[in-house]
Amino acid sequence: MSIVENAAPKKVPVRVRIAPSPTGNLHVGTARTALFNYLFAKAQQGQFILRIEDTDSERSTADFERNIYDSLLSLGLSWDEGPSPEGGEDKGSYGPYKQSQRGEFYTRWANALKSAGFAYDCYLTSEELDAERAKAKLENRPYVYSGRCRDPKVREELAQDPARKASLRFRIPDNRGVLIFKDHVRDEVSFDTDLIGDFVIMKSDGTPTYNFAVVIDDWLMRISHIIRGEDHISNTPKQVLIYEALQALKLPEGTPPVVIPEFAHVGMILAPDRSKLSKRHGATAVSEFIQQGYLPEAFCNFLSLLGWAPPDGEEVGTLEHFASQFSLDRIAQSPAIFDKDKLHFLNSKLIRLMPLEELLERAKPYLSDFDLGQYPKEKLLMILDAVREPITVLSELPESMIYFFGQKVILDARLVGEVLSGPEPEQVLKAFQNDFLSSADFTSPEALAEQLKAFTKSLSPIKTKTIMWTVRAALTGRTSGADLSKTLYILGRDIIQSRVETALILGSSVTN
Ligand code: GLU
Repeated sequence: MSIVENAAPKKVPVRVRIAPSPTGNLHVGTARTALFNYLFAKAQQGQFILRIEDTDSERSTADFERNIYDSLLSLGLSWDEGPSPEGGEDKGSYGPYKQSQRGEFYTRWANALKSAGFAYDCYLTSEELDAERAKAKLENRPYVYSGRCRDPKVREELAQDPARKASLRFRIPDNRGVLIFKDHVRDEVSFDTDLIGDFVIMKSDGTPTYNFAVVIDDWLMRISHIIRGEDHISNTPKQVLIYEALQALKLPEGTPPVVIPEFAHVGMILAPDRSKLSKRHGATAVSEFIQQGYLPEAFCNFLSLLGWAPPDGEEVGTLEHFASQFSLDRIAQSPAIFDKDKLHFLNSKLIRLMPLEELLERAKPYLSDFDLGQYPKEKLLMILDAVREPITVLSELPESMIYFFGQKVILDARLVGEVLSGPEPEQVLKAFQNDFLSSADFTSPEALAEQLKAFTKSLSPIKTKTIMWTVRAALTGRTSGADLSKTLYILGRDIIQSRVETALILGSSVTN
């Protein structure tokens, strides 16, 4: 039993990475990991690196890669080193930063490990390996590769068969026993290396497996800390063993020293029902949430709190603020629950706090059905200000402001029957048309508010509430919404005039 060298934190420049595979859109779990790496890098004046793990050429696509870049950038997580999203040269001294372009490194170090006896060719076919697995299952024991090809004689013999293709297996050192590595989130983690079994590092097609590529890259890219999801915890002993083998190699001049990184394995993100967060629970990609109208800042804020808590207890904050407070020892080991209510709370809060001009720019993509040219900017800002209070996502905006656009408004039968018909509504609307509109001063919402007050008084004993309801229903087709004097000011006399007329006609058609 021995504790690996990463147990004692070293004073090295902080270099962390996020290493997504472009086999899907950027998942919220990966985004949360990226964010923690980013915050740690900023907190430690370190570097945040993006590496694209695209060795699976069948499932990796350029569109997914693009989605990863766009999603990270939209969250504000720009990388100090990594591929250029525009397709230009990579940024950073230790590239290339896409695994598909790093084949020579994997081949070179795989060969070095093989020559030094840390790896050997395995000629077993997938059928033979399946049979080994099936036997283990039958005997009710966990599967561990038999080690058949450890024997040079067996290798020699099997190599004669041209149909067999060799993969390269890492040799688990004999008597390595229990391996213990230090983890910032779970303290010490131990694994019995006897239960690992010699594992493939280079496939028979000459491409590396994840565990091998990740170590070669993290080493050559001088990664100091690996912060990632706990689903990778069982990969870590394999990776540590590869580091230890590399440490035993005689390295040529110019090769960086092999330093085992420090690890922090973050608890998973679970759905509210405590199952794995999946499509079944709705959106799982960052870009889907952004499309639905979550502000990237709010989403980022939300992700920060999934498994980490700021020491000052202030849960609403910017990336910079959280970065100034971030430390690995406050990362939670227990799973984080993806609590939509919290996301909604943060999003609506940021929508309410956002400067109006900026909100207008953010809202525009959601308002493409409206002719925004109908109003000067001052009125558009006023509309947003008047409707934003109850909004949780930007995609709710069109519905909340539809009555400001176009000449007409839809008055449904229920509204007409319940609010706009009968002697009182008729009296209110007629008075509104003849007395109020004919003389109203539309220069400001404040002036209109005063005039509305006088108008309601003049209609006594009809209740103020009834008057407001009726006017609002006639003008907006609903019984609640933006402040009425602001609504009047924004709509202007002509639109109001025509809507009141329509309401009177529809209301009387029910009465008679
Ligand atoms: N490509 C791996 C993933 O997306 C990276 C894991 C790691 O951080 O080592 O899960």
